[in-house]
Amino acid sequence: MRPLDLIRRKRDAGELSSDEIQFLVRAYTKDEIPDYQMAAWLMAVFIRGMNGAELSALTGAMLHSGEVLDLSGLPGSKIDKHSTGGVGDKTSLIIAPVVAAGGVTVPMISGRGLGHTGGTLDKLQSIPGFNINLSLSEFLRALQASGCGLIGQTAEIAPADKKLYALRDVTATVESPNLICASIMSKKLAEGIDGLVLDVKTGSGAFMKTEKDSVHLAELMVETGERMGKKMVALITDMDQPLGLKVGNALEVEECIEVMNGGGPSDLIEVSVELSAWMFYLADKTPSVERGRELASGLIRNGSALSKFREIIAQQKGDPLVVDHPQRLPHSQHQSSFESPSTGFVSSIQCEKVGIASLVLGGGREKKEDVIDPAVGLVLHKKVGNAVREGEPLCTIHYNSDAHLADARNLLWQAYSIAPKPPSVKRPLIHRIIVGKGLQA
Ligand code: URA
Repeated sequence: MRPLDLIRRKRDAGELSSDEIQFLVRAYTKDEIPDYQMAAWLMAVFIRGMNGAELSALTGAMLHSGEVLDLSGLPGSKIDKHSTGGVGDKTSLIIAPVVAAGGVTVPMISGRGLGHTGGTLDKLQSIPGFNINLSLSEFLRALQASGCGLIGQTAEIAPADKKLYALRDVTATVESPNLICASIMSKKLAEGIDGLVLDVKTGSGAFMKTEKDSVHLAELMVETGERMGKKMVALITDMDQPLGLKVGNALEVEECIEVMNGGGPSDLIEVSVELSAWMFYLADKTPSVERGRELASGLIRNGSALSKFREIIAQQKGDPLVVDHPQRLPHSQHQSSFESPSTGFVSSIQCEKVGIASLVLGGGREKKEDVIDPAVGLVLHKKVGNAVREGEPLCTIHYNSDAHLADARNLLWQAYSIAPKPPSVKRPLIHRIIVGKGLQA
């Protein structure tokens, strides 16, 4: 097999066999194919697309480029959730303890913030001492002991993705639904799961801005997971404004604790309960999603989710006292109010700009080597549809540097729109549900 022939065939909209795709991925991972040839092939895929069989072959080849966890020794189903990323999107920190408290094993391998979106690992690391770098054997022990482990991608998991992602990043081939699907699914399937709930975000704070694009990506991922024998569902959820009221690493941990204490904002509760309910249903823990919702809400109400969160934190060497004393989380030195320029209603919030405001405060990375400031971020007081008076705070900025404050204010100016009337159409929180075969919505 010659890479040149495979590049040419894809360039001309031809189909590649599973063996040919495996050859490309294997040889590239072993440095036997140079970057320039793989980049040409990726661009051909970007432009020409792939059929379902090719996409499964690519996902499988990337998955088997590294270790695939064998969790068959653990009782019951193993189910995870993956979000395509958003602003204030902190549901993993609620879902993992809720679902583990309900008796389902949750092997969660998460990522860091990407662009304007936050990452679960950065949020977890705002908890003093929390260790996200467990080895795979430590991860297995954690799953055995508490039913949950929260770690970052290790060198053993899908190394082909690591190499391909870095190449895509510098060759304008990131935004291909096929390549995104293979990248996400290869990492998630390496967790040894039986089923996966996908939270595909849509709106101004998502990578997929339109519902049409989000649905397309969701359908590709559901179909690919099913071809690999997994139970799959994708929820298309709203990211046209931040989820919840808090954006920033420690602030988001604080808000998750509020939810598990029975408080917190209703949108965050609804999305977290819905995703947990689907995880229970996929695990056959409940006969329906409705019963899954009841189970998830009950585990929050009776304090089981919060106890499980304490247990997970202690297991990964974090300070479990943050759960009862959130003041032990990092806090910024300064706070500043961002006030409404006029009286009216919040008509829209450009969500990506809010994410970038949190990033420039130090809550995210501009460059790979940047160090995160866990304490900074934003607390929103007004969301879309809320009435506001001139001079009333729209949000509070938590900051540690005056220079960063000015940049964040500038972005918030651009983010908030105030109009004389509230928006006539309220966007739903859950736009659509794409259900795998044999499951019922
Ligand atoms: N997240 C991933 O892990 N991979 C992609 O390609 C895009 C988002």
